[in-house]
Amino acid sequence: MSTTPLQRDRATTIFQKGAPGRRAFVCPAPEVPEVDPETLLPAGFRRAQEPRLPELSEPEIVRHYVGLSKRNFDLDSGFYPLGSCTMKHNPRLHERTAALPGHARLHPLQDPERAQGALELMWNLQGALAEISGLPNVSLQPSAGSHGELAGVLLTRAYHEDRGETRHKVLTPDTAHGTNPATVTMAGLDVIKVATNQDGGVDVEDLRAKADGDVACLMLTNPNTLGLFDPNIAEIAEIVHAVGATLYYDGANLNAVMGLSRPGDMGFDIVHFNLHKSFTQPHGGGGPGSGPIAVSERVAPFLPVPVVVRLKDGAFDLDHERPKSIGRLRGFHGNYGCFVRAYAYICSLGADGLRDASETAVLNANYLLARLKQRGVAEYLPLAYGELCMHEFVLSGGPMKQALQIKTLDLAKRLLDFGFHPPTVYFPLLVEEALMVEPTETETKETLDSFAEAIAAILSEAAEDPEIARGAPYTTPVRRLDEVAAAKRPVIRQAL
Ligand SMILES: *Cc1c(COP(=O)(O)O)cnc(C)c1O
Repeated sequence: MSTTPLQRDRATTIFQKGAPGRRAFVCPAPEVPEVDPETLLPAGFRRAQEPRLPELSEPEIVRHYVGLSKRNFDLDSGFYPLGSCTMKHNPRLHERTAALPGHARLHPLQDPERAQGALELMWNLQGALAEISGLPNVSLQPSAGSHGELAGVLLTRAYHEDRGETRHKVLTPDTAHGTNPATVTMAGLDVIKVATNQDGGVDVEDLRAKADGDVACLMLTNPNTLGLFDPNIAEIAEIVHAVGATLYYDGANLNAVMGLSRPGDMGFDIVHFNLHKSFTQPHGGGGPGSGPIAVSERVAPFLPVPVVVRLKDGAFDLDHERPKSIGRLRGFHGNYGCFVRAYAYICSLGADGLRDASETAVLNANYLLARLKQRGVAEYLPLAYGELCMHEFVLSGGPMKQALQIKTLDLAKRLLDFGFHPPTVYFPLLVEEALMVEPTETETKETLDSFAEAIAAILSEAAEDPEIARGAPYTTPVRRLDEVAAAKRPVIRQAL
């Protein structure tokens, strides 16, 4: 097949476009004297030569980036049931609110006296998150769920050290999200895996055997990554507290339980929120994240500084004087634009609305599960554990691979040709050929029905000819990629 000029143009990088000396916008000559570069940046830090930058006209730049954006799959153009990621619709109201100049143009070094409105918003958001989690002390600082996890493990270490103890182990179930063990390792502690029982929950006997005086913390998400709520949570919390360890709640699955159950009531000491998941923010390459934490009283003295406080006269301020604090986790105070969106979400839904969102998320997931069963999919893609689910479910593609000679990856790639973003695949690791589906509460019945139809169609197509799925996708800007090479030998910069 020959390529058209348009196709060739789409394949070029921005460095291959334009022409020397071409400009988009030209600033008028400055009317103030030029500053000696030496006073701005010492010579040792400056490049010998100016960097080679792209030189393009404004329409070329706009077309380049708009063209790239159209080659991507995004939530605004299609269903995105990526399990564990909560890809729900981001209401435009939040974008408008975050774009108000008072929010968007606020300088991060603004004196607190002149940023009272922003501090009040942060204070109110902290209060709402405390209420939702059942844990009264909140820090908005962490920039992602995994960053909240790191904060949690550092808080746990500080808590034990303050009591004169050094503990080395962190327990995580083998269904845990990959960031949990990665965080523990990064914080310099040892990961100890806890087995999963046949119902998909924590193996309580295994936990009991491994819980000893060297355990600093148990990290758990409930519902877990199998989409199942662990009914033994009270017993689990008791075992962990009995050995003096803390309980960390990975709040990434909060979308299943908002307004219904609270980590604080289940006995957890620390929880992180993924504002970019449960509380609607563009994410997955679409914007910055935010991973606030909420903690119990015994962990509160160690929270990161500064803390937003309300003074006696009603004014808001930043408190830096916290002697036991683990310190700062990042520059400034967190991703403020995410706070505005999350607060707008919480205010526009209210307590009842948040609960309704979770109930609908769980209903949608169970509806889709039932619909897939009804379409005969369960024979090839059975539910890995249990009968029902919370906000997401994990299917096993093992029988499909046996009977139809296609793998979960082939099914996922073929879904792209039907206009759907694939679910999460090959996670959690304990499920063979895993396919993890999270539809979220913002999808219509029609969308869920057509997704179930697409899966059924791909399976019956594979029964005729498995090669079709194995060669997919066919309709996307790029065909199947070598994902192992992309992960192991990434070329992230073009040689100039
Ligand atoms: C997304 C997720 C995380 C990590 O959150 P990030 O914001 O991506 O760092 C942790 N645990 C679970 C279960 C998740 O789904």
